[in-house]
Amino acid sequence: MKGKIRWALWFSWVLIFLLWFSPAQGEGAKKVIFLIGDGMGPQSVGLAIYFNRFMNGPDKPLHMERLMAAGNTGYCLTDQYGTVTTDSASAATALASGVKTRDAMIGKDHEGRPMKTIIDIAHQLGKSTGLISDTRITHATPAGFYAQVLHRDMENEIAAQLVERGDVTIAFSGGAQHFIPAEVKVEEHPDLKGIARAAGLGSSRRKDNRDLISEARKKGYALVVNDQELSALKVKETEKALGLFSASGFPSAIDRQPHHKTGVPTLTQMTEMALQILNKNPKGFFLMVEGGQIDWAEHANDVAGVLHEMLEFDKAIGAAMAFARENPDTLIVVTADHDTGGLAIAYSNYKLPAPIRLASGETWKTKFNFGDKMIFEKMAGQKKSFQKMLRDSKGDPAALKKEVEANTAFSITEEQAAAILARDPKTGNPETKEYTEFYVYGLNTSMPLMGRLFGKEMNTAWAVGTHTHTPVMVFGKGPGADKFRGLLDNTDIPRIVAREWGSSLPARK
Ligand SMILES: [Zn+2]
Repeated sequence: MKGKIRWALWFSWVLIFLLWFSPAQGEGAKKVIFLIGDGMGPQSVGLAIYFNRFMNGPDKPLHMERLMAAGNTGYCLTDQYGTVTTDSASAATALASGVKTRDAMIGKDHEGRPMKTIIDIAHQLGKSTGLISDTRITHATPAGFYAQVLHRDMENEIAAQLVERGDVTIAFSGGAQHFIPAEVKVEEHPDLKGIARAAGLGSSRRKDNRDLISEARKKGYALVVNDQELSALKVKETEKALGLFSASGFPSAIDRQPHHKTGVPTLTQMTEMALQILNKNPKGFFLMVEGGQIDWAEHANDVAGVLHEMLEFDKAIGAAMAFARENPDTLIVVTADHDTGGLAIAYSNYKLPAPIRLASGETWKTKFNFGDKMIFEKMAGQKKSFQKMLRDSKGDPAALKKEVEANTAFSITEEQAAAILARDPKTGNPETKEYTEFYVYGLNTSMPLMGRLFGKEMNTAWAVGTHTHTPVMVFGKGPGADKFRGLLDNTDIPRIVAREWGSSLPARK
């Protein structure tokens, strides 16, 4: 009998040893960094790549180009439940839970059933988790990974859910206005005094007296509110961290040049700090990083704005790649939730280049303007977003003319400026002359009107002010990255990650 017990004990020790030290199935991708470019259709990827090639030469590829060149590239379909185009909330639900749902719904399937996310699977496996966005932590994409609400606009509820669950290790973003008691100003809250002025301040959006910041502290979160506090975080001592760096979204990338002066961290700074903290967990982690304002600049049809957001996002991809070089058990996956705007860089009959005398002695001349380096030089010459130029000119055409001429490579007449600001008597909003139905954001339509006015100068045209159907790219590197080749559906992505961990998300119903 004793022998049997001894044998059983010995056997269980061997079993424990084997389970502990042998890599479990799929443990190759112990660490996962999932980068989502919101609205990053192939058009904006191409914009960034060509800008970089024409301005910096072909020997200095972007990080995303290097990642694509690694060979694990595919296309991803983005349709939502029952419709061709998608909203960001339903897309986030697809990318986090592996189910299609209706627009605006977060963390619930098309019948409103709450869904598990890849974050939940990570926690079950003892992994740490992180969410980063330059929008708001309560905005659709990050919320899709931790919240369950019927409508993305329920951001106060979404903030409460983040703090109530309290298990997300790192949350770095904006959106402080949803975390403080009603009527309190962000800059007056004792914990938020350090939020940078340039981050945009303002009053609480809550209707109740909950102070989610003190609730988060009680749950063990370290709070940071500007770039200096972020970089001063003590990695060893930090178990969980909440970073709220702006009242609402971050200032757009083009409007915080040089960023080090604004006090708002870059996507890269947030990513690097998150990776250090998450990497303390021997069981690995899941980190989602969203370049969230590519989409915003695209809704505005502001091509230079898109370019700056893309380059900002690319640097974050670079930070992920640097981490993966040191940590080969890291899977990096990059994709987008959908395309926005349907950008075209196209040839036109505007400002034809002069004929050229060839070495052969012949004269070559073109009928069309195919777009040369000059278009990127003009984009690079833009110093402010359309949104900021409009805001700073306060509805005054003369002021808008000045703003445009001080901050872009273009000139504009006062009449043109007036037309951009003019409101349609019927709707009370600025309106495009055609495709009006695809410009749905009221007063914001002044921005796409600027995009239309300057488009011919940069060989750019935009289809719409909303999202499009265009399949997006997906590409990755590291263990399991070969599963991201070919044609995928957005709901496949978290399912593939879960499988790599030897786990699974609940089946679609
Ligand atoms: Zn989106």
